[in-house]
Amino acid sequence: NFSSQSHKIVKARKYVVVNHFVNEAKPTDLKLVEEELPLLQNGEYLTEAEYFSVDPYMKPYVKRYPLGITMIGTQIAKIVESKNPAFPVGKRIVGNMGWRTHTIVNPKFKDLVFQEHPYLLPDIGDLPSNTAYFGLLEICKPKSGETIVISGAAGAVGSHVGQIAKNLGLNVIGICGSDEKCKWLTEEMGFDSAINYKTMPVASSLSKAASNGVDCYFDNVGGDISSAVMYQMKPFGRVAVCGSISSYNADSSSLPKCTILQPILSKNQLRMEGFIVLHWMDRWHEGIMQNLQWLREGKLRYRETVTKGFENMFDAFIGMLRGENIGKAIVQV
Ligand code: NDP
Repeated sequence: NFSSQSHKIVKARKYVVVNHFVNEAKPTDLKLVEEELPLLQNGEYLTEAEYFSVDPYMKPYVKRYPLGITMIGTQIAKIVESKNPAFPVGKRIVGNMGWRTHTIVNPKFKDLVFQEHPYLLPDIGDLPSNTAYFGLLEICKPKSGETIVISGAAGAVGSHVGQIAKNLGLNVIGICGSDEKCKWLTEEMGFDSAINYKTMPVASSLSKAASNGVDCYFDNVGGDISSAVMYQMKPFGRVAVCGSISSYNADSSSLPKCTILQPILSKNQLRMEGFIVLHWMDRWHEGIMQNLQWLREGKLRYRETVTKGFENMFDAFIGMLRGENIGKAIVQV
């Protein structure tokens, strides 16, 4: 029932940040509120959220912004009313509109938090991430026959990295937090071996799985797991630092203590490089199309852990941070 002049939003809901997260996020750090949206102006369009991504980065990033902002995050939304011919009703977009069910987007104004506008979802079905693709190929520079270790291996990024590495002919070892995840990686995702860091000693398990040492390390977690891996790296090994989720729940006074890395970096002439995937914005399409091709050829598969209901956003978010997800954690409205 959307006309070009007015819309009937009975309930537009959003989560407002009322406390910055300290240690583990609490439900009371966010407040679910309702709002009435104004009429559309020329150039604007109205979206209705369908899927939300819940991601680890949200936890540390939100501290950069003042209290009172809408909780940050990306969503896939449908355009339900439009006064902008470039964004017609019925098309879907991907954007950083935060945790809100309905959004009026005005392409003339930059987004408060991410300073970028939503883009129309290409009509390609699956939409795989580029983090694994660029981080692995550009920083680890993997070669057939080498050994790679991936931490956070059963998550969205890690499970993707492992499959690309396997396709390239590497010996792939995953580190993750449950036996169910290990089984999934080795039996379904093609990993050569997997280590449950919660029940197995990482260093000795790794020296068995990678008896000749490690060439590449794709690091999603940091902390002690990463120190153990890095002390088993071969000369001229490459480390891609994608994230450090082991420290995301800690505040500055309780950061995890871990082994100093400089001796092994210098002795084995290792290269360790952090990255943010937006670095490859100019090659974005290349990554999407390559991943898509692998998906279509059956060389890349993915799994989603879907939580239903906007009112369950927080549970999905905290569940992902606690490791309850296998593959990509999303919320379906
Ligand atoms: P995941 O799907 O991997 O979900 C997070 C996982 O982290 C959990 O499932 C849990 O699995 C694991 N985890 C939680 N706490 C710890 C801990 N203390 N130690 C070890 N593992 C832990 O998330 P993503 O794939 O979306 O993200 C993975 C990493 O990639 C994150 O660090 C994220 O910040 C980073 N990232 C970086 C980008 C970049 O541009 N550099 C872009 C996107 C993501 P388990 O059961 O194994 O503990």
